[in-house]
Amino acid sequence: MLILSAAHQQAIQTHAQQTYPEECCGILLGRLERDEQSNRKIVLEVQPTQNAWSEIVVADLAVLEIAVSRHPNARRDRYWIDPQDLLKAQRQARDLGLQVIGIYHSHPDHPAIPSETDRLLAWPEYSYLILSVEQGQVTELLSWQLNNAHQFESEEIQTEAITQKTCHS
Ligand SMILES: [Zn+2]
Repeated sequence: MLILSAAHQQAIQTHAQQTYPEECCGILLGRLERDEQSNRKIVLEVQPTQNAWSEIVVADLAVLEIAVSRHPNARRDRYWIDPQDLLKAQRQARDLGLQVIGIYHSHPDHPAIPSETDRLLAWPEYSYLILSVEQGQVTELLSWQLNNAHQFESEEIQTEAITQKTCHS
């Protein structure tokens, strides 16, 4: 279960709406509380990062035989966190006595369901928080985690309800 405060949820939603129609991405820092009954991941800090998706990343992934789209507006359906940003977040987390517990990113005009690329690039220990942004407004927030077969399973999010999309007439 991923536990997210209303303020952190708001920060993530704002980031996703600002980068629309491109994908946003960022890093979740927090604490793991594991016992026999439950596996709680508590988000304590949210770090927005640049979407560093580029032709260089496409080339790097080709070496790993991961085929990805090459169309010019690829940041509309791809994201990439610079490994330097992740390293920095890991160091910062350690200094705060926390750890990196997940990654968030948005799906502009697509459901908050992980893509095949998301699955191929995912790390087993992280939560993957995905936001659906429809016409600039966040409409859905779901969390996913890999199982032992490297398939995504949905993860419960404990948070306040997302503000419903308002209609402007
Ligand atoms: Zn995705």
